[in-house]
Amino acid sequence: MKSKQHAAVLPPVRITRIEAAPLFGESPKGGWSAEIRPQDSIHAIVAVHTDQGITGYGSVFTDGRLVQAALKVLEPLFAGENALEPERVTEKLHQNTFWMGRGGTLTHAISGIDIALWDILGKATGMSVGRLLGGVYRNRVQPYCSLLMEEPKAMHDVIASFRAKGFTAFKIGWGPFGRGLDTKLDEAIVRAAREAAGEKSRLFVDAGASDAHWPLGFKWAKRTAEMLKDYDVGWFEEPVKPDAIEEYAELRRCSPVPIAGCEVLTRRQAFIPWLTRGAVDIVQPDVTKVGGISEQRRIAWMAYDFGVKYIGHGWNTALGVAADLQMASAFPDVDLVEFIGGSAYVDGILAEPFVLDQEGWLSIPDRPGLGVGIDRDKLARYTPDPAPLFA
Ligand SMILES: [Mg+2]
Repeated sequence: MKSKQHAAVLPPVRITRIEAAPLFGESPKGGWSAEIRPQDSIHAIVAVHTDQGITGYGSVFTDGRLVQAALKVLEPLFAGENALEPERVTEKLHQNTFWMGRGGTLTHAISGIDIALWDILGKATGMSVGRLLGGVYRNRVQPYCSLLMEEPKAMHDVIASFRAKGFTAFKIGWGPFGRGLDTKLDEAIVRAAREAAGEKSRLFVDAGASDAHWPLGFKWAKRTAEMLKDYDVGWFEEPVKPDAIEEYAELRRCSPVPIAGCEVLTRRQAFIPWLTRGAVDIVQPDVTKVGGISEQRRIAWMAYDFGVKYIGHGWNTALGVAADLQMASAFPDVDLVEFIGGSAYVDGILAEPFVLDQEGWLSIPDRPGLGVGIDRDKLARYTPDPAPLFA
């Protein structure tokens, strides 16, 4: 009996190498004041290879060249490590890089590694990441289609086109909103979006105040929050500068619509003051920046215990979305995932692309690991050399 139990223990699956590939050419526009160009890399795919022939995949929201450099720095720490222990291995990477960009590029890069390690653990055990996180509360979730703000007529048309594709929840953000210093234009954009989305759709608004040199302050945010209530907007995101925690807290108390934020934060520890000071109704950590699934799950549980809603921001590639879907399955109250509309890196790299069901929801894969597979030929359109990602 005893020897049988021993035989069932999985032997270590050793990390042999980790590769990153920057994505180019089709990065979705950010609505940033310094807009992303086709030659800019802001998203990267990470592959963790092992001595058992299992490869795990993750993605990172940052310049792929920075990820490649980070992997060189981290290599002595991850080489030969057991890929079946994602939390311990990534915590080792965090703890030993205190002086070299903690919270920055290294944390972003570790996010991709951590997602890939969870993928490997799932593939090695035959379980989805959601199950590995402790259990599955749901097998489908509503994606909200995330779109850049446009002038009212264009805003109406773009929402109508994604509504026709089946989406039933929308978020509009960045672009001219607020930046035009024209509150009438702001309202006209939201009105056009609500008309195009229809009464029954969910609608959210993202000011994107983490943009460079955000020109507006608390009073604009307070007045705008009141306007948004008239259009049944479900939350107001990044309404003030991303470090203005006191303004967030004050706005949360007086705003008639919920306040969302924190997509720019990395490391679980950075979320503590935001939760203890009651600064947001909704936290939106990005699994591809914050430290990966190991970090994200701790933030999500911490938020849950503070009565703050968690909604993932991992839309940067199909792998980020896949990680968000697994996270959405494993928490009692997650009812949305962010899904950027019309991104080649989400729609165009999987062997089996995500498909909306009749109600505009996504099913959450109950297959080993993240439950998605990259199509090498499709990926090759967006990165010069995909070969190192494949064993
Ligand atoms: Mg946002």
